Amino acid sequence: MRLFNLAGRLSTFIDGSVADVATASDNRFSSDPQLMFDDWPALVAWGESVGAGGVGEVDTQQLQAPVPRPAQVFAIGLNYRAHAAEGIFSVPEEPTVFTKWPSCIVGPSHAVELPVDTDWEIELVVAIARRAYRVAASEAMSYVAGFTVGQDLSDRVLQRKGPAPQWSLGKSRYGFGPTGPWLVTLDELDTPTDLAIHSSLAGETLQTSRTSMLIFDIPTLIEYISEKCPLLPGDLIFTGTPEGVGYARKPPRFLHPGDVLTSTIEGVGDLVTRFV
Ligand code: ZN
Repeated sequence: MRLFNLAGRLSTFIDGSVADVATASDNRFSSDPQLMFDDWPALVAWGESVGAGGVGEVDTQQLQAPVPRPAQVFAIGLNYRAHAAEGIFSVPEEPTVFTKWPSCIVGPSHAVELPVDTDWEIELVVAIARRAYRVAASEAMSYVAGFTVGQDLSDRVLQRKGPAPQWSLGKSRYGFGPTGPWLVTLDELDTPTDLAIHSSLAGETLQTSRTSMLIFDIPTLIEYISEKCPLLPGDLIFTGTPEGVGYARKPPRFLHPGDVLTSTIEGVGDLVTRFV
């Protein structure tokens, strides 16, 4: 099932057409996309009963963030070896966890306002279906609602300002968490642990890898984070970016107003982000 936020209303595809979830379910489920996690098992069962699945045509300019108001947004730094190496970091022995504050989360219809030196970071984003506290890796995937595509946009100047790094602030400017186009449940994916991940600018490849290259895989991340703090329904985890970011290039390269960034994860979708 693909679940998306069409102009503020939770929607899905049934037989290739857009269906409004509240209307199609006789208001059994809320129209508010964030509330899809209130009774996630029932929503999934309803989707199966009405044949929700596949993909169809939709006006992407009306798409907002599929998970618009997560209580917590976790993000993982240096989770692909080649990305750690391009930044001259050693490969971490434990996950490097920071936050993107939830107010930075936007969807495909949002044009992102750019300060200076803004860098791209395509990432597979995990949405949590139910409260997870001290969950073992072997059980972790049963806590996952699905995947979406994200960009962990980064103001590299702010990120590195001061004697200690400011990762969270530099990565939480308004609009710096584009997500979308939808939340895809794992049954839609043939190989959820190995998806091609690719971003491009005007047809030029910026980043290309596979999610099987993650140093710490999704079950490991859920076990690691949930051992310390409960994950809540509707929380997001940005799982880290592969190599090819702008700051590590010679010379460094950043986004500019007018750029249109396309971020694609196999089977999950294309997230198109415009910059002004
Ligand atoms: Zn990142």
